[in-house]
Amino acid sequence: MSLPYCNPTACVAAGCEAATCTGAGVRSNAELFARSAAVIPGGVNSSIRAFKAVGGTPYVISRAAGASLWDVEGKHYLDLVQSYGAIIAGHAHPDVVAAITRAASDGTSYGAPTPREMKLAEEIRSRVPSCERVRLMNSGSEATTTAVRLARGATGRDRIVKFAGCFHGAVDALLAAGGSGVATLGLPGTAGVPAAAVSETLVAPFNVVPQLDDNVAAVIVEPLPANMGLVEPTAGFLAGLRAECDRVGALLIFDEVITGFRIGRGGYQAVCGVVPDITCFGKVIGGGLPIGAIGGRRDVMENLSPLGTVFHAGTLAGNPLATAAGLAALSLLDDDAYDFLAVQARRLGKGLGDALASAGIPAVVPVIGTLVGLHLAPVPATDFDAAKTTDEGMFARFFHAMLDEGVALAPGAYEVLFPGLAHTDAVIDSIVDAAGRAAARAANAA
Ligand SMILES: *Cc1c(COP(=O)(O)O)cnc(C)c1O
Repeated sequence: MSLPYCNPTACVAAGCEAATCTGAGVRSNAELFARSAAVIPGGVNSSIRAFKAVGGTPYVISRAAGASLWDVEGKHYLDLVQSYGAIIAGHAHPDVVAAITRAASDGTSYGAPTPREMKLAEEIRSRVPSCERVRLMNSGSEATTTAVRLARGATGRDRIVKFAGCFHGAVDALLAAGGSGVATLGLPGTAGVPAAAVSETLVAPFNVVPQLDDNVAAVIVEPLPANMGLVEPTAGFLAGLRAECDRVGALLIFDEVITGFRIGRGGYQAVCGVVPDITCFGKVIGGGLPIGAIGGRRDVMENLSPLGTVFHAGTLAGNPLATAAGLAALSLLDDDAYDFLAVQARRLGKGLGDALASAGIPAVVPVIGTLVGLHLAPVPATDFDAAKTTDEGMFARFFHAMLDEGVALAPGAYEVLFPGLAHTDAVIDSIVDAAGRAAARAANAA
């Protein structure tokens, strides 16, 4: 596909936002990134987007469609980042764009309830029965923050148990031993979090049921961790957490910000059969717009203000554009869609695994439902320590070789791959062909 990106006339005619790159006379990724870095710390608004872990300068995106991205130099990439999982129907899906456009023309935010909020909350409840009540907000981080506050308020206890390698967003009390960017950037946690903010956070190894006591308000877990690569819970782990929480009267919080509506209609809880008290959502439910949500048992959720004493509010919460985009995305996600996603995930995982094996690179490519991991080590990871045995240097070489071949992976060795509805057989096969060449180059450069 070749489109006239950064051709000033065509860009302006198409109303392309990337016209800024021509309007300013800046045409290269390097120039544009340098200019960004002069005003935005590190040139990125989410640390995970930086190329710190893999070296080099990020490509600067001009536009995207389906499985494709184009940078401001007009280079085309097949995209496996898909906004870190916020996009599932493919970039700029016509139904999602139409829904946003329709909503926008009716106003973009009000300060009073709207029918779309109700519809999205009902849609979430109908797919995830544990969510008897749902509250919408603006990001996954806000969802985990609110879930923790709610659990503490509902139980009158302070202590939170999390698992090493699970990532719950940019939340002070939850950044200890986090996956994703915290792992990628090699941070022990983060500066700026007072000891008091984490003094009630206990970090346990994943896949081992910790023994709790009655100081624990909640256990928060990614039931299928997807921020330390993709790690499968061992049989009985999640059920064991449920039982241990019940034994001491603690709440179980599932962070399904990635897995919710991606792994299947009912999220990972429908797969594992363990029912949490509170579930956190984000990413897919906003159709690519900023959103977050928590859902849970009615008696727990009704501790939220205005019914209860646990405060939550947000100027843009339940935003008309985000709820319109989310509803449009969910309407595309029927059983056939999930079957397709699972088949494409297997095709991608098998192809990548074969490509890396042919190049002699030790790798495990786990495929769980519709998600694909990439663990550059001989044996599957079952916890964060094992996940960290991934060969980060090899990942960096493979990442750059893939980028040269026109395939965009997330610039971190602990991120998963997000095949979506736009990843047709032809797209997956192109990615796999590219991976064969990229793996050979990465192996030779080692
Ligand atoms: C992305 C993510 C979050 C944070 O969501 P944001 O919308 O980035 O704030 C929380 N939990 C998990 C599991 C995530 O993957």
